[in-house]
Amino acid sequence: MSDCLFCRIVAGTIPSKRLFEDDRCVAFEDVNPQAPTHVLVVPRRHVATLNDLPALGEEGEGLAGHLLRVAAEVAKGRGHDGPGYRLVLNCNAQAGQTVFHLHVHLLGGRQLGWPPG
Ligand code: 5GP
Ligand code: ZN
Repeated sequence: MSDCLFCRIVAGTIPSKRLFEDDRCVAFEDVNPQAPTHVLVVPRRHVATLNDLPALGEEGEGLAGHLLRVAAEVAKGRGHDGPGYRLVLNCNAQAGQTVFHLHVHLLGGRQLGWPPG
């Protein structure tokens, strides 16, 4: 989608600090980090919200698992696997989703409070 921010980041027409990419996803630094590590893992294909994933069937299930695996690998690469880290996936406005292209937040490097706001 040409009018989607994260599609543009995936395409490279908007710059980002990429940490990892493969055929299904891209991981890059969040522009407004909320922790020492704040990385976004996004699918290459446009999926607006988590609500849209079940309609993709097995591909959606595979994609969800893949995003989590990549987030875990990036977390491990940053040394967060031992101390701990958090993955956040906001779905729609009441949860705080502002970019309507599916993404997993990886937060690490500080003590994280609970419950989230
Ligand atoms: P959401 O609120 O939708 O769960 O998360 C969107 C995230 O995208 C926010 O954490 C925000 O800081 C990040 N973001 C918004 N615009 C940009 C951008 O242009 N580049 C990058 N790298 N992150 C962005
Ligand atoms: Zn998109």
